[in-house]
Parts: sequence; C-alpha cells; structure tokens
Amino acid sequence: MIIIMRPEIRADGPEVEDIVSFLSHFPEIKVKIVESEGEIRPVTEIHLIGPTHNIPAEPIKSMDGVEMVVRVSSKYRQIGRHDIHLHPVGFTYQDILFDQDSLQIFAGLCAVDTREHVEQVFQCLQELGIKTARMGAYKPRTSPYDFQGHGAKCLPYVFELAGKYGVKIIAMEVLKENHIDEIRQALEQTGHPTGVMLQIGTRNAQNFELLKAVGSQHEFPVLYKRGMGLTLEESLNACEYIASEGNRHIVFCLRGVKSQLGLPHRNLIDFGHVPVVKRLTRLPVCVDPTHSAGVKDRSPEGILDIFHAAAQGVIAGANMILVECHPDPKTALCDGPQALTLDELKEFIEDVAIVREAYEKRRALRQKYSKGEEDL
Ligand code: PEP
Ligand code: MN
Repeated sequence: MIIIMRPEIRADGPEVEDIVSFLSHFPEIKVKIVESEGEIRPVTEIHLIGPTHNIPAEPIKSMDGVEMVVRVSSKYRQIGRHDIHLHPVGFTYQDILFDQDSLQIFAGLCAVDTREHVEQVFQCLQELGIKTARMGAYKPRTSPYDFQGHGAKCLPYVFELAGKYGVKIIAMEVLKENHIDEIRQALEQTGHPTGVMLQIGTRNAQNFELLKAVGSQHEFPVLYKRGMGLTLEESLNACEYIASEGNRHIVFCLRGVKSQLGLPHRNLIDFGHVPVVKRLTRLPVCVDPTHSAGVKDRSPEGILDIFHAAAQGVIAGANMILVECHPDPKTALCDGPQALTLDELKEFIEDVAIVREAYEKRRALRQKYSKGEEDL
C-alpha cells in the first residue's frame, strides 16, 4: 500500500507523523517515507511493506494531508505506476532534471583511452552546450585479452577535466561494489568537480548483489541497462531490486536485445518499449542507439542508422540518450566502429532537436484531441 500526501505536505510534517503513529498499531508492517521530485510537484509518499490487506484504507484516506491511498499490485511495488494511479516522479541530480518529460543527452567515450581524448570530448560537449557525458573506466569485455579499461587510475583526470569543461554528470559503468568506493574516493580527492551516474551494464542486468549495492547508497543515481537476453519484465524486476534497497533515482535504459533477427544491427532495436516502460513505471527512460544499432551504416538519404535509432526513441518520448563518440574512432580501444566522430556528434544533437520538437507537437496534438473527447 502507498499513501500519497498532498503536494504541500512535507515528510517531516505533523500529518506524516500522525499517520506513522496510526500505523504503529500494525507492528508487522514496515513503514518507509519516500520523498521525490517531479516536474509538476514534489511528492511525499508513505510506503507500507508487509501484510497490508489488514489495514483499512478508508480511515487513512480521511486523515489530514492525505491525497490518495493506493493498494499496489505485487509487481514493481516501488517503481510501478499501478494502473496509472501514481504520478510519475523524477529527481534532480547536479541541478539536472530526470523525469518522464525531460530529455538529456549523455555523449562520450565508450572507454577512456587517453587524457587528450577525454579533454577533446569534454571541450566539444561544452561547445555544444551539453553538461552530461559518458566515460567508461571499467569495461566488461567478451575476451579476457581485450582492453579492460584504465579503472581507478584514470578517474582523477577524468573528473578534473569534467570540472574544467562544465560537465556536471558522467555516466560510468561499475562492475562490482568496490568500483563505487573508488569513484567516491576519486571525487573526494579531486574536490567533487562533477557528479557520476552509476551505470549497470547489460551483462550485469541480473547481478542482484551489485543491484543491491547501487540501491543501498544514496549518493549517486543509477542508469540501469536492460539485459540483452532478458524480457522487459525481468529487467524491470531488476530495477525493483535497486528501488527496494532505498534508491529510487533510477533511469531505465533500452539498448537493444541480442538476436540474429536484428542483423545487420548489433542488437534488435527495442525502442518500441519506450512508451511501455513509461506506462508501467514511474522511471525516466533512456535509449542507447550506439549499442543497439552498433554500426556506422547509412540509409540511402545519407543518415546514419544510429541517428535513425535515436530518432525512434525520441519520437516515442525517451528522456535520455546515451551515445558514444570519439575524436579519432580508428584508434579507440573499445567500440571504435560504432563511435560518432565529434563532427557527427554535432549533427546528431541537431537531428535529435528536430525529432524532439516533433514529439512535443505530437503531445500537443493528443492534448487537443483528448479535450474534444472529454467534451463528448
Ligand atoms: C556501455 O554502455 O558502455 C556498454 C558496455 O553497454 P551495454 O552494457 O549496453 O553493452
Ligand atoms: Mn561501447
């Protein structure tokens, strides 16, 4: 059961205190107070975990400050929309908003290789007005003989350079719990010049201990990438692991699924699931056109498949894009063949803006028609 408080009610206010004291009559229930931000309004919720069927909803509904009481289904208790009753909620990190209405672009290196390349990418992002980047320091590779990433030793210069060029958040994959500590230490050592969004890669999509580790810390938000061989339901349950540990600052990323049916793309592009994830959950949704398309091929009009893939996500309302670029893709130590050059990145950003405008027009069109439907 979730008790949603009215917008003006604060988590430490007397109304919440009254409800918590009423709930103390049900000692078998665990009570959790959750505060989130949204574009429309802040949300304070009281989550009840345990045998809530014994708890009567009516007296709670009539208590001061309560807007709504929702009995949640067992699926996606924390992240779910529960038949659209619950508002989508978002979060702000480093002054940047993540919710189901906004759109952020995270661009950068698949794997950090040299300091010079990191600097060139950040400089380019600054010129393009982008404050969000991706940088891989820990790389999970199919072959043990491939480059595994520079790990903790590159973090200080990556963070310092981010600060120098106004990059506020870097999406960075972690493969084990200790990587979170290394990131925390490097941020401390460099004076927190930037922020980090912890990325759970597709290969760790059901690494439940790692999911619990990113879920039980509150410092960093989490970018969860769908498992390449998992159903949507399995991946959403994995996100629920993160949320159930206490961290609801999660972005769900579609990155394609492994299938010969996607050929000649690296994965079968699954961006048709953008509206599905937005409907089932309250999470912002990211698309990764780089790892899903995975090739630098162009359609007859000259547009890269990576651009087309991103467009499919954005036209359907995606809230974040994760895209790889490299100043000199030929020399990249990981995923060079799918990296955009910095010139291509500039074009990409302009292309995304066109598609986003079309998405906004689609929303306005729907609003116009839905008003007509209400009048009937
Ligand atoms: C990545 O984004 O760096 C990556 C390895 O992607 P994925 O986990 O989706 O393969
Ligand atoms: Mn990559």
